[in-house]
Amino acid sequence: MASTDDTIVALATPPGRGGIGVVRLSGDRAISIATDAVRFSKTPPETQRATLGDLLDPETGRVLDQVVTTCFRKPHSYTAEDVAEISCHGSPVILRFLVERCLERGARMAEPGEFTERAFLNGRIDLTQAEAIRDLIESRTLYQARVAAQQMQGSVSERVKPHKQVLMEFIARLEAGIDFADDDVAVMGGVEINSRLGAIRADLEKLAENYQYGRIVREGLSLAIIGRPNVGKSSLFNRLLKAERAIVTPTPGTTRDLVAESASVGGIPLRLVDTAGIRDAADEAERMGVEKSWQAIADSDLRLLVLDGSAAWSHEDDGLLEKIRPLGALAVALNKSDLPAHTTCQAIEARVAADSSGAAVKVISTSALSGEGIEKLREAILELAAPAGGHAEDEFITNIRHQQLLKESLAAIVKAQGAAAADTHHEMLLLDLYDALRPLDALTGATDVEDLLGIIFSTFCVGK
Ligand code: GDP
Repeated sequence: MASTDDTIVALATPPGRGGIGVVRLSGDRAISIATDAVRFSKTPPETQRATLGDLLDPETGRVLDQVVTTCFRKPHSYTAEDVAEISCHGSPVILRFLVERCLERGARMAEPGEFTERAFLNGRIDLTQAEAIRDLIESRTLYQARVAAQQMQGSVSERVKPHKQVLMEFIARLEAGIDFADDDVAVMGGVEINSRLGAIRADLEKLAENYQYGRIVREGLSLAIIGRPNVGKSSLFNRLLKAERAIVTPTPGTTRDLVAESASVGGIPLRLVDTAGIRDAADEAERMGVEKSWQAIADSDLRLLVLDGSAAWSHEDDGLLEKIRPLGALAVALNKSDLPAHTTCQAIEARVAADSSGAAVKVISTSALSGEGIEKLREAILELAAPAGGHAEDEFITNIRHQQLLKESLAAIVKAQGAAAADTHHEMLLLDLYDALRPLDALTGATDVEDLLGIIFSTFCVGK
C-alpha cells in the first residue's frame, strides 16, 4: 500500500476538454504546494472558501489561467487531511501543466482511488462507504445512485453494527466467565445464547438473501428476448426502453451514449442479450454459434418469450418454449394485441404451465405498436427477475464481497448455535463466536483487511 505520509495530486475531473477541470491535492503539504503553484488574491487562502488566483507562466511571468481554489484543513475534508482543490478552465494542457507544477513542488501522483483510500485509512469512512462512493460514481440510473447514497451514509454498517455488538458482548462475557471462573461473573446458559444468536442469524440471512435483488440493482439486468422472426422482439425492447428514456433524458442535446446508458426498467439498467443466432441452426458449421447463443440465454437473469397473438401457435414456438422453460423464471409477451386475437393469455398460461418446472411465469398481453401492456410487462420483468424486490433502499446489499462475508459469518453462527445447544465447553463456543465476528469486522474494514484494500481501491478512477 502507498505511504500516506506524502502529499498526493491528481486530476479529479475526467480527462479531456470541459468548462472546468479540477486538480486535487491531499496531504500535509497540500495547501503550501497549492499556494506555491498558484498566486492567490489572498495568502494564505481561507479554508472552506473559494479563493481566486492566477496560474502563472514561469517562462513569461504572465497569467496562464485564472483559477479558483478551495482549501480544507484536516480533518474537515474528503480525506481527513489538508486538501486543496484547484479549479482551472478545462484545458488538458493547463491541467497537465498545473499537475506538473505540483509534482515539481514535492507532490506525488495519486494512485487510483487513493483519495478515498486515505479517507478510509484516516477513519473518516468505513469500507462499505468507500465502496458505495465508487458505486455512486458508476451509477447509471438515479435509482442506483439513491441506493449507493444510502450505503455511502453507512446503511450497511449500521445494519450490521447491533449484531456485532451482541457478538462482542457474548465474547466478552464468555471470556470473563472463563478467565474469572471463580468470580461471580454470570455465565450465560446455552438457551439464552442460542436464542439471541438465532435472532442475529435470521436478520443476517435476510440481508444475504436480498443480494439476489441487490446484485441486479448494482449490475443491471440481463434480458434475453426470444421468439420467432417478426413477432415484435425489437419493437418491444424499444418500447420497454422508450418510456423511461423520455423521463431520464428530457433535455435536448443529450448524447447518444447517455441514452444508451439510461436504458433501464424501474431504475435497474437493462442489458439485452443477443439471441439472433438461435434460429440459424441450419448447417453444422453454425452449430457452435447456436450453442453459444443458448448458453448466453441460459446465463441471462431473465428470459422474455415473445409470441404473436394474432397468429396461430406454431411448432417453432413449441420448440422455443421447450428449451427455455427449464432455464428458470419466464416472462411471456403475447404481442400484437392491437390485431384480432388468435389466442388468449389464459391459453398460453395453460400451455406454459403444462410442462412447468416450478419456476415463475407471467404472461402479459402487449402491443409494441400501441404501447398497450408495456407497463405491465415492465412490472412483470422486475417481479420475475428480482422476486425479493420492492425493498427500501437500505434493506439490501449490492456487493458480492458483502454477501460472502455475511455467509461466512452465518456459517460460524450456525456452528456456535450447535455448540451452545450441546453445552460444549465455552472455549469451543468462543472460537465460533470469533469466527462469526471476524467477517462482520471485515465488512467495514475494521480488521485484517490490508490485502483487500489494494483490490478495492484499484478499481477507482484516479482523482477519487
Ligand atoms: P422481431 O423480428 O421479432 O424483432 O420483430 P420486429 O420488432 O422487427 O417487428 C416485426 C414487424 O411486426 C414490424 O413490421 C413491426 O412493426 C410489427 N410489429 C411489432 N410489434 C407489433 C404490434 O404489437 N402490433 C402490430 N400490429 N405490429 C407489430
